[in-house]
Amino acid sequence: MALDPRTLLSTMLFVVLLTAVACFLAWLQDRKQTVPMWMALAAVLLGLALVGRMLAAFLPGIILSPSLLLTSFGLIWTAGRCLRDLPPRPLAIFLPVIVWLTLCCFPWFRDEQNLRLGSGLLLLVLPFSLLARELWLKADAPPLMRWLLLAIVGFQIIYMLQAGVRALLFWPHVVYMPFQQIPGFSRMMLDIIAVMVVLSFGLMTIEKDQSARRYQDAARHDFLTGVGNRHDFEVNLHRHFRRAQMSKEKLSLIMVDADGFKAYNDLYGHRAGDQCLRLLARSLVHFCRPTDLVSRYGGEEFAVLLPDTDADRAFGVAERLRQGVYERRIKHAGRPEGRLTISLGVATLLPERREATPDALVEAADGALYCAKRAGRNRVCSETGRNERQWEAAEASPQEAE
Ligand code: GH3
Ligand code: MG
Ligand code: MG
Repeated sequence: MALDPRTLLSTMLFVVLLTAVACFLAWLQDRKQTVPMWMALAAVLLGLALVGRMLAAFLPGIILSPSLLLTSFGLIWTAGRCLRDLPPRPLAIFLPVIVWLTLCCFPWFRDEQNLRLGSGLLLLVLPFSLLARELWLKADAPPLMRWLLLAIVGFQIIYMLQAGVRALLFWPHVVYMPFQQIPGFSRMMLDIIAVMVVLSFGLMTIEKDQSARRYQDAARHDFLTGVGNRHDFEVNLHRHFRRAQMSKEKLSLIMVDADGFKAYNDLYGHRAGDQCLRLLARSLVHFCRPTDLVSRYGGEEFAVLLPDTDADRAFGVAERLRQGVYERRIKHAGRPEGRLTISLGVATLLPERREATPDALVEAADGALYCAKRAGRNRVCSETGRNERQWEAAEASPQEAE
């Protein structure tokens, strides 16, 4: 390398400190993201390692700098662990440093330049391998970034293994050299710094993507029950409506309402009511098909959207939901059945009809639900009046209906 050592060192330091500042600023922006914090610390330690090797006297330099470098890559591995929400493991971070310091206690180790270089490189393989493992297990990361980082880390492991073994076995015996005179040392340091910079931005990108997906997920789900929220329902309704119109498939909707839920709260308290709603949501998800979309419409009302489902099949699904919740035997002393029941209204959209709109579908299902309530609750009604016989029976004996 033609650059003079001081220029080279200053450039390396500048890049490392710039990376540290960028990571630190990224962490200040959102302190819930811990990857930038670990990367900033790692970059600072790497900077100190460079300064230490250049400025500290012979013995402290060769002991201190590799220790800082090994710790720095231990912290980069810790940043990788953060991606899987795992806590730092101090023993594993400092294990290569402990081995290094132990070796430095022996004069035959301290006095042999190539032994130190080879051992340092081989010890670096540990944090790199642990980081590769984290990236490998982080299967939900953006594939391009994940594979790019895996390739870089994998290449580094191979490079360090071969350079480490070569230094141990083949390089001539040297007691001490200024670092800029060690063959290939500057290139090795440049390589380490480039890898650290790429890893910093790569790991931060993965964490940013993960956090964006978590926020999106939270915005789509109902906090209490975990099923889709009202916004999610509207988005799905309009999306499936458009799809149904294009493919001329039928789209059905079931509106579900817990019977006598105000009484449930009055009897058991709102906390128990919340728990009951959670159980109800879980039951709905359990008893409908994997393709059906369960959302909380509001309060104790849920909506189940059934893509590509005609009226008869939708009625069948609704009846299974009613039966399933009934069989769960959720105690409700305020109901004649002594357990929690639900009423359901089913409507099916025929997209070829010109007057069909998403709102019309919700209104039709709502109307059917109202009929189920009027007919005495704990039943399914459809807009097509399939359940008319039940209403007639209920109206004939109004004391049954609440
Ligand atoms: P109906 O059989 O006619 O549906 O009677 P209902 O009592 O279920 O209906 P109503 O609309 O009178 O009462 C709904 C109740 O649902 C009142 C409200 O306190 C309760 N509720 C709505 N959202 C929640 C919630 O998030 N948690 C709890 N615990 N209760 C809720
Ligand atoms: Mg209601
Ligand atoms: Mg209700």
